[in-house]
Amino acid sequence: ILELIGLRKSYGEQEVLRGVDLRVRTGELVCVIGPSGSGKSTMLRCCNRLETPTGGQIVIDGQDIMRADLDINLLRQGVGMVFQHFNLYPHLDVLGNVTLALRRVQKMRRAEAEEVGREALTKVGLAHKAANYPNQLSGGQQQRVGIARAIALKPRVMLFDEPTSALDPELVDEVLNVMRALRETGMTMLVVTHEMAFAHAVADRVIFMDGGVVAESGTPADIFERPQGERTRSFVGRYM
Ligand code: ATP
Ligand code: MG
Repeated sequence: ILELIGLRKSYGEQEVLRGVDLRVRTGELVCVIGPSGSGKSTMLRCCNRLETPTGGQIVIDGQDIMRADLDINLLRQGVGMVFQHFNLYPHLDVLGNVTLALRRVQKMRRAEAEEVGREALTKVGLAHKAANYPNQLSGGQQQRVGIARAIALKPRVMLFDEPTSALDPELVDEVLNVMRALRETGMTMLVVTHEMAFAHAVADRVIFMDGGVVAESGTPADIFERPQGERTRSFVGRYM
């Protein structure tokens, strides 16, 4: 469903992505791990055109997303993104945050948007917080609202960029559990994470990125229990 082919990205002289090849099939959960600066965030940002690649191809649902006539709003509804920092609007309540794009971008009527919004909040276990404001929620709850906001748009694929790394340790699991449940619904997910136990237990495949390329990829058992490359071995060795 999502395919990166020889993806390249440079910032000035610095080549951050040096030909990334990666494929996520429908319903798969693929985890991306790798050292800081290896290009993980840049790669995700290219997938919904927050960055413009300097080379290669990204195909989502059979569509080349680099096409000049692509409708970026439509692309971003189809490709949900959850970041490390949740960026909720402080002046809107939880339901308002979740329904904003439904109303502004999808032009839904209020009643319909609220129904879809409540459904999304139920999926992340926060229906009872619909009328609360972001500052009345824990970090873990705010991140779950961020996930609800993305899934309310019924995306074809969800991208996560270290969704738990800004959270206190005791709040990490509630977010990972929501992601696990989302995966059970058949959602296609590409997840950049430092949560090795999660990647090990939940991923269909694990990608080790290093120096702007996919250095190694395989099942969680391949990557964590019998890594081939020296760099992979030393990276996962620190967590196992
Ligand atoms: P981390 O684990 O720390 O999040 P990462 O793998 O996500 O790292 P990226 O954020 O993709 O890494 O960054 C890769 C490289 O690109 C880094 O060297 C970074 O300094 C550089 N970079 C990222 N964004 C920009 C930008 N907007 N302008 C210039 N350089 C950038
Ligand atoms: Mg990053």
